[in-house]
Amino acid sequence: MTTYTIINPTTAKPVQEIHLADIFETDVIIEKAARAFASWRLVAPGDRAKLLRKFAAVVEAHTEELAQLEVLNSGHTIGNARWEAGNVVNVLNYYSASPERLFGRQIPVPNGIDITFKEPLGVIGIIVPWNFPMPIAGWGFGPALAAGNTVVLKPAEVTPLTAIRLAELALEAGIPEGVFNVIPGKGSVVGERFVTHPAVRKIVFTGSTTVGKHIMQGCANQVKRLTLELGGKSANIIFDDADIEKAAANAPGAVFDNAGQDCCARSRILVQKNVYEKFMEHFEVAVKAFRVEDPANESAEMGPLITAAHLARVQEYVPSGAPIAFQGTKPEGDGFWFAPTVLAHTNLEDRAYREEIFGPVVSVVPFTDEDDAIRIANDSEFGLSGSIWSRDIGRAVRVSRGVEAGNLSVNSNSSVRYWTPFGGYKQSGLGRELGPDALDAFTETKNVFFDTQN
Ligand code: NAP
Ligand code: MG
Repeated sequence: MTTYTIINPTTAKPVQEIHLADIFETDVIIEKAARAFASWRLVAPGDRAKLLRKFAAVVEAHTEELAQLEVLNSGHTIGNARWEAGNVVNVLNYYSASPERLFGRQIPVPNGIDITFKEPLGVIGIIVPWNFPMPIAGWGFGPALAAGNTVVLKPAEVTPLTAIRLAELALEAGIPEGVFNVIPGKGSVVGERFVTHPAVRKIVFTGSTTVGKHIMQGCANQVKRLTLELGGKSANIIFDDADIEKAAANAPGAVFDNAGQDCCARSRILVQKNVYEKFMEHFEVAVKAFRVEDPANESAEMGPLITAAHLARVQEYVPSGAPIAFQGTKPEGDGFWFAPTVLAHTNLEDRAYREEIFGPVVSVVPFTDEDDAIRIANDSEFGLSGSIWSRDIGRAVRVSRGVEAGNLSVNSNSSVRYWTPFGGYKQSGLGRELGPDALDAFTETKNVFFDTQN
């Protein structure tokens, strides 16, 4: 029997042993989910909606417990962790409105009637990373269940606790046995099996670009449906006509939130040359004031990194001699701490500038004009999110149309709203999650022609 010892990233102390499923156990659960699909898809739309609302209510009643569990397992700040549990509630409530609204179309044809149906796919395999265990799970299972699919969900090996609890809460809410299944295990075992098992009809994967490409290749064998949310190296573009103080005050949160372990992290700050010095002065004050501390503290703005191995990986991007402009603070102690770090590159071929670090490290780069800003922003294999700071509305529109990324914000750094679409350009992903169209990714369109002449 294989187990994994969960480590609290804040203290580096063991928390709990978790049993990791093997391939046989995985198959048993996939087959259970496939059987449950036969009846779940037939639950009347209004009844499925009610069950999802009940699920949301039960999760809401356990918000604090789930949040505390995420602080313990993942080192998230308590404020973030509460938002994350609340996001699951919001996503469930939002998609609970869709079973009765899963419309097809009636298309005019001669000699008959033509109707399209939105039909569920079957078992959906959701593979979740460790950076946002609750929201990323919910973005998959909320719309998947609403559309009448059943779900097998693999949490990241290191962060399974909230997903395990959510599966218990689903049963408590009356979601039938077998409809929502959480299978803790290794990516190379459970995740791979989702890809190869023919009863799993779609994969929803969030994680690294390398594993995403591997899964995409695997899905090709069965022409398996696939949604990918991968990495990012997003640009925070600050023009000289922006509110520089506000842009600088908000820039630390845009990249150091969740210790930089965020695919939307604005990990490249592009600043117009003539305001570069001014921006850096204000930014330094904000970075040094950014509260890196025990994430259980209400005042914490950043906690530790997820594991010792990830800490070592992040450290590699900041070797001695790295072009550090300034750093924030970090507490002493055994946790996996890394101080917020600002790099001022002269060589834009640096690994630290080009690759996703997934830690609290940001690169600041000057630019000359609008075209230069867009060129630098797009000089990346990624295209997930980004920000544009300018008071010139025409410029904000032009630049937001010019940047190749799925989620942009102007005079703001917020990327995620459960009712707007989310996803990446280029190697940041494939398909979109959330928003009004998410159910399209969890249904097939069936067209039926009825001949009225016979
Ligand atoms: P990862 O390996 O891509 O892991 C993401 C999920 O995929 C985990 O549940 C993982 O399981 C699973 N997995 C791994 N190998 C698999 C396989 N062969 N088949 C199916 N599933 C598989 O990401 P990571 O190693 O945790 O992080 C590495 C880097 O990826 C990060 O530093 C960051 O740059 C990037 N990343 C991006 C995001 C994002 O939101 N876009 C999220 C996480 C990581 P295990 O838990 O067993 O590994
Ligand atoms: Mg990995």
